[in-house]
Amino acid sequence: MPAYLDYNATAPQRFEVIARMQALQVEPLNPSSVHAYGREAKKHLEQSRKAIADIIAAWPNEIIFTASGTEANAMALRGFSGRRVLVSAIEHSSVLKARNDVTPIPVDARGIVDMAALDALLSESTTPALVSVMLANNETGVIQPIREVAELCKKHSALLHCDAVQGVGKIPVDFGVLQADMMTISAHKCGGPLGAAALVLRRDLAIAPLITGGGQETGRRSGTENVGAIAGFAVAMECAANREHMRGLRQWLDVMELEMLAQGGVVFGTKAPRLPNTTCVAMPSVSNEVQLMDFDLKGFAVSAGSACSSGRIERSYVLAAMGVDKDIVGSAIRVSAGWQTTQNDIIMFTECWKQTHSRLNKAPK
Ligand code: PLP
Repeated sequence: MPAYLDYNATAPQRFEVIARMQALQVEPLNPSSVHAYGREAKKHLEQSRKAIADIIAAWPNEIIFTASGTEANAMALRGFSGRRVLVSAIEHSSVLKARNDVTPIPVDARGIVDMAALDALLSESTTPALVSVMLANNETGVIQPIREVAELCKKHSALLHCDAVQGVGKIPVDFGVLQADMMTISAHKCGGPLGAAALVLRRDLAIAPLITGGGQETGRRSGTENVGAIAGFAVAMECAANREHMRGLRQWLDVMELEMLAQGGVVFGTKAPRLPNTTCVAMPSVSNEVQLMDFDLKGFAVSAGSACSSGRIERSYVLAAMGVDKDIVGSAIRVSAGWQTTQNDIIMFTECWKQTHSRLNKAPK
């Protein structure tokens, strides 16, 4: 199997997660049922809710389970009517496209949200605002100063949503410390299953549900909860709370980056705090599509910024928002490592990148 270096797309499931889910999957588990099976399901659901809440320093009743981070983001952005919605220009498409009236907040060349611009945007209207700024960017790994953004939002009586999907398991994610009013987390990015995520909503806030029906999740998100996946989510969060492996990853990626820089590579986001597992690097004058095919043939699964569902690679709007030159943007790829990545994987990939660079950089265009 190829060396997997695309954890920001999805992480392999932890063995503990698989074991927990297999144990639960044999039971008929609908937490809304009133019989013994239903009570059992409810017990698992509430235990998982409590475990996740404890890890992110939230109250259990602040956790609303959803089927994906995309859904949680849509709920956050659509759930408050009458507000102007301001979102950073580098948000994931599930935030950018959650509604068609969002105002973008620019970022600077480091990839950090422009606080002066946000202040000005918040000052220019008396309509209350809803601001959405992500904790860490999926392409560059750049970490945003959410606490400062939260203070600015408070000054202007604006609500703050933080998409923390890429932060969980990589850096501390503490709902209390971040001071956001809402936060999105998703299981499959931290070693849990697909199909489980959550919107964390400050408990004194009421949100209009996106999905109505049976009234699950205290009426805030109808639909039978995916008890097995949610239990897997809780186990993944518990495993990911130990971030010891992340320290090693950053050291190995730093060595890799130095070698790439020495050969003319361009690494993005280095002037800002970054996730320990992510490197976004351009190989100037070699298109990222060509690179990805080459790496794939050689047994490395990496990605370029935002592959859309058709598999086509779109030019990165994240790097474009940082003011990166168009040609360089088209030659950038993302390496994202995780819990199963070894130092050898990174050394082998670095060698492969250097060989590809030597060969393709000289090839006639
Ligand atoms: N937010 C960020 C920053 C992401 O990277 C992703 C997935 O790539 C999402 C949201 C969407 O999460 P999900 O795949 O659970 O819908």
